[in-house]
Amino acid sequence: MIDINNIHSFSELVTAETYLENRRPKDETVTATDYLIVLCDEKILIVYDKRTDTCVLPQGEKMPMEVDASKMIHQITLPGSTHPIAKAVGIDELLSPDVIAKSIPLEDDALTYKWVGFREAYDMIALPLHVAAAKAKQLIHWEKTHRYCGHCGTKVVQVLPNMVRCPNCGLETFPRISPAMIVLIYKKRPKDDPNYLHDKILLVQAKTFRKDFKGLVAGYVEVGETIEETVHREIKEETNLSIKNLKYFASQPWAYPSELMIGFTAEYDSGNLILQEEELLNGKFYRLDELPVVPKKISLARKLIDHYLTCKGEV
Ligand SMILES: [Zn+2]
Repeated sequence: MIDINNIHSFSELVTAETYLENRRPKDETVTATDYLIVLCDEKILIVYDKRTDTCVLPQGEKMPMEVDASKMIHQITLPGSTHPIAKAVGIDELLSPDVIAKSIPLEDDALTYKWVGFREAYDMIALPLHVAAAKAKQLIHWEKTHRYCGHCGTKVVQVLPNMVRCPNCGLETFPRISPAMIVLIYKKRPKDDPNYLHDKILLVQAKTFRKDFKGLVAGYVEVGETIEETVHREIKEETNLSIKNLKYFASQPWAYPSELMIGFTAEYDSGNLILQEEELLNGKFYRLDELPVVPKKISLARKLIDHYLTCKGEV
C-alpha cells in the first residue's frame, strides 16, 4: 500500500498518484441525484465498499443521523448544471460510524460508513463528487461564519440558497469568496541548450503549508488592486524578483476555506532572490529534472507545474 503522505521525491509522488488515480471511481460512476454530503470540520462521511475497495458518498432521502433544526440543508449542483445532485449539511460532532449505521443501516455487510479527511477524500471518491463536496464545504463555512448580521448583530435568516438577510436592518450577505493569485515563475535554459528539463521553476515552502513540500508563490488580492498588480506585488514582496511575460493559466475554487485561486505563468526578468522570512521557510529555482516533492494534483499549483512539463516549457 502506497502512503501518499510519506513521499520523498517527485517521481515517488507521481507513482503514488497514478496508483490512486487508477483506483479512484471514474467520473461516469456519478449518475445518482440523491448523494448526501455530511461534513464535520475537515472530515467528510463516506461509504466504503470492501468488496471493490472503493468509496462513494452516502445516498438516500434522509441524512444518516439526526440533524439539528438550526442547520441549513444545502442543495448542491455541479458547475454548469441546474439540477442538484446532493444535499449537504455541516454537523458539529463526529458521530461514530456504528452509531450512524444504526440510524440509517447500509444495504449489506460489505459497506461501512467512514470519516475521512477532506483532502484525502480527493483520492477516494469520483472527482465530480469531490467538486460537489468542495462547494458544500464553502457554503457550510459561510453558514457557520455568518450567523449574525455584520452590521447590527441580529441573528440572520436564510432567504435564498446563497443569501441570508438581517430581519432588523435588511443587510443581505452572500457567501464570501476571497480571490488569490498563484504563479509559476520560470527561468529559461540558455538558448543553445536543447533540453527543456534544464529550465528552472521557482518553488517555495510557505510557513502555512501543512506538510513538507515545495509550492508556488501565492497571495491574496488586496482592496483596489487588479489581479495582475497582485501578482507583481506578491512576487516582489515574497521574493524580491521582477517578472515578464505574465500569462493567465486557469482558475480553481479552493475550499480551504473559501478562495478562488487564479493561476499564472511568468518568466523571471531580474533581481536576486531574497525570501520574505515572515511567510517563507525556504525556496529556490529548481531544474525540472531535479524537482522535489510538490503539491498534489488537487491543487492549481500542481496543474501549473504539470502544464509546464507537458508543454516542455513552451508556455
Ligand atoms: Zn442587521
